[in-house]
Amino acid sequence: MNRELTYEAVIGLEVHAQLLTASKIFCGCSTRFGEAPNSQTCPVCLGLPGVLPVLNKKAVEFAIRTALAVRGSIAAHSVFARKNYFYPDLPKDYQISQYELPLSTGGFVEINNNGMARRVRIRRVHLEEDAGKLLHAGTMDRAEYSLVDFNRCGVPLIEMVTEPDLRTPEAAAEFLKEFRATLQYLGVSQGNMEEGNLRCDANVSVRPAGSLELGVKTEVKNMNSFKNVQRALEYEIERQIRLLKSGQPIVQETHLWDATQGITLPMRGKEEAHDYRYFPEPDLVPLEISPAWVEEIAASLPEFPAERRQRFVQVYGLPEYDAAVLTASKALADFFEECTHRHRDVKLVSNWIMSELLGYLNREGKEITESPVTPAQLAGLLKLIQEGVISGKIAKVVFEAMYQTGKSPEAIIQEQGLIQITDQEELGRIVDQVLAENPGPVSDFRGGKEKALTALVGAVMRATKGKANPQLINDLLRERLARG
Ligand code: ADP
Ligand code: MG
Ligand code: ZN
Repeated sequence: MNRELTYEAVIGLEVHAQLLTASKIFCGCSTRFGEAPNSQTCPVCLGLPGVLPVLNKKAVEFAIRTALAVRGSIAAHSVFARKNYFYPDLPKDYQISQYELPLSTGGFVEINNNGMARRVRIRRVHLEEDAGKLLHAGTMDRAEYSLVDFNRCGVPLIEMVTEPDLRTPEAAAEFLKEFRATLQYLGVSQGNMEEGNLRCDANVSVRPAGSLELGVKTEVKNMNSFKNVQRALEYEIERQIRLLKSGQPIVQETHLWDATQGITLPMRGKEEAHDYRYFPEPDLVPLEISPAWVEEIAASLPEFPAERRQRFVQVYGLPEYDAAVLTASKALADFFEECTHRHRDVKLVSNWIMSELLGYLNREGKEITESPVTPAQLAGLLKLIQEGVISGKIAKVVFEAMYQTGKSPEAIIQEQGLIQITDQEELGRIVDQVLAENPGPVSDFRGGKEKALTALVGAVMRATKGKANPQLINDLLRERLARG
């Protein structure tokens, strides 16, 4: 009997998201991205002595919105805590976070993993401040000096921690996408991993399949895309299984993902063996949240991705697949619905967005918000197909030009003379000419070879540069061929 063990992975995520408040969490400095280094700082966020933090109410509201979205239970009383550590991007030498009494505990996010709905339990959601940013000058091998930009210091973050409920790297990526979509629907964060306003640390361990005990975990940091989270986890799981199979122990440590090499590397030093000496933040009173305020926020929550997906199926009659693709981001779902307000054939709208528009955007790595084609223009194109002004085939040519130039479909059709030939007389002349020039297929067809018609249709299409209505060509050809 083969007694080789199979292993299963266990994954838990810690996600940080920058909140879209206008000002920082404990001072009035702007959170605007991309300003001159250190231009958005003050004595509070620079950690100068003698200053006091004042909590930003909007940040609390955004954290409550997020917690409600994951069905967490909001604490009426939560406490800020000092997390003490030294790092050059942290001028106070401590980060104000929440520890023993977080803003929210419990809840879940439902993900769709391989067609199966799966609940990932949430452990907590809390508020904290971001640190600054180090910029290292010099070469990869030799950092000559480092610069620090404190603009990000004190920008509000929510931290969301899951229970170790995920089992595959794919499910972890799926969870992150769902959570990001939720943040975007809520309007509380941009949720852009590439830009670093959504960050994820992945905790992962492996254990013999069927075992209920958790294995020793490692934590992987530094992934800046969903794809990289998935790749880093795949690598790390394989690495751990290899160690176990060769009888070596797994060391609980933090690894950094190196996307270029496609490997994870243990962080130098014992930086993770921290004792943060948490204690309640003496400069802030405990956070008291009234049930009335929570109710008010709950009443203002938008439709969530899962609900919108369901509505797309029920109200528009879209297949589950279309609904899932179209609600992947709020902006895309909005784009789709704007089109449907202008064009009633919902499935046609969905097909064009999914196969054409998303095809072009994905090839260029662009988001729907960067689409050169507006919903009104796409709906306009579909209307022209429906009215028979252009064929579906020509519409693809028109669409490409719309995408390249941003011009309206009417303008492109005009410029390129693409209007469908629906004039029977004009088309009849072309058909007669094609019949005269193709005696071979003509006699084949008359001899009973149905297939020969395809060649004749093709010839008419070429002669009209694709501008003729295929049905009409068919009718005219058959009519003439029958005449004998
Ligand atoms: P730490 O104290 O090291 O930060 P926590 O218990 O706070 O660990 O958990 C941090 C994250 O790691 C959570 O998302 C949790 O679900 C996950 N986690 C905890 N134990 C394991 C494990 N053995 N394997 C995988 N993930 C784990
Ligand atoms: Mg932790
Ligand atoms: Zn400040």
